[in-house]
Amino acid sequence: MERIGIYGGTFNPPHTGHISAALQAAERLCLDRMLLIPTGITPHKQLPAGSPNAGQRLEMLKIAAKSHKMLEISDLELRREGKSYTYQTVLELKEQFPDAQLVLIMGTDMFLSFENWRNPDIILENASLGVMYRGEKDEAKAIAEKKVQMQAKGAKIELVENKILRISSTDLRRMLTFGCAAPFLPEGVGEYIRENGLYGSDRNYQGLTVEELEAEVLGLLKENRIAHVLGCRDTAVQLAKHWGADEIHAARAALLHDVTKALDGPLQLTLCQEYGILLNSFSQKNTKTLHALTGSLVARRVFGEEQAVVDAIRHHTTGKADMNLLEKIIYVADYMEPNRDFPGVDRLRELAFSDIDAALALGLEMTITMLKGQGREVSPESREALAWLQRKERTVC
Ligand code: FE
Ligand code: FE
Repeated sequence: MERIGIYGGTFNPPHTGHISAALQAAERLCLDRMLLIPTGITPHKQLPAGSPNAGQRLEMLKIAAKSHKMLEISDLELRREGKSYTYQTVLELKEQFPDAQLVLIMGTDMFLSFENWRNPDIILENASLGVMYRGEKDEAKAIAEKKVQMQAKGAKIELVENKILRISSTDLRRMLTFGCAAPFLPEGVGEYIRENGLYGSDRNYQGLTVEELEAEVLGLLKENRIAHVLGCRDTAVQLAKHWGADEIHAARAALLHDVTKALDGPLQLTLCQEYGILLNSFSQKNTKTLHALTGSLVARRVFGEEQAVVDAIRHHTTGKADMNLLEKIIYVADYMEPNRDFPGVDRLRELAFSDIDAALALGLEMTITMLKGQGREVSPESREALAWLQRKERTVC
């Protein structure tokens, strides 16, 4: 009996992770073919503003899958009027292929919340579920339990462990803005995106006003980082006013300081690779601090920022010896902005307006103590920054 896989998604845009997941699932589940079905109006979420239209998503998916005979594209959901549900797709396919076995492909999250879908029983009567999971310990346990539970009710469930590349379409859109998405785009998709000016690929991000820059940056952050970045901007401007630094530079550096922070360690490394940066061993191992470097690269290459702004972003996590006033301001503002709450923050806030070097030293000391306490490696730049401040203080005395 023919076995047909059903792999739905927004494919906004389609990426190499989708294609390799589809191929792996097809192989492991012994499918005769795999249907890739871009979703129409999704019941759970609307597509982000500025997304390509349905026809463009379909076209990109066709390009992405063109060299794999096993993968077929279906516009069945895009043609559907009104809200679209998976059970409708399964029923339509069952009608189209009455003698085939249908296997609905899904990831862990979807599987674990399966009973919340519309008409799950109809789906299970007409298809088996092919669950792609990564084999991490907690995940495997939750899936195994759920499988037993559902099988007891007659569901047919097939598990596929895979180690495919994990990148969300949201992160991919960020990588597109940063000009570093090439490793994740199937052949031809990048060209299509550029030719059609999708995902802001025809936008010029250079020469933005502070207000325009704010709007762009907020769109690249995770929701829970927005308050921090705006707090940092306000604090940096206050400090710049107080100490006589350039307020515009302070605002721009603060807005951009965490611009790449949403990306995880592997994506940080990809950014460095794409920008042709060779990393020292500390940075390779400690990807948490890498967003300062990648943020500075994005500030210069994407947003065309001046060197002073770029440098302040570059050193905001670790500090360094010989920091200039703007670099100190961004480091301290990041540490003390109004959303920060930890023992010692009030002292830091006082010092920031009376002795910026002392505030910087306190920040560095607290970071070093915390890292040591957690058994983590301290950046050589932080040690050098602190030693430099201590030398400076002795010279003044
Ligand atoms: Fe940061
Ligand atoms: Fe920050």
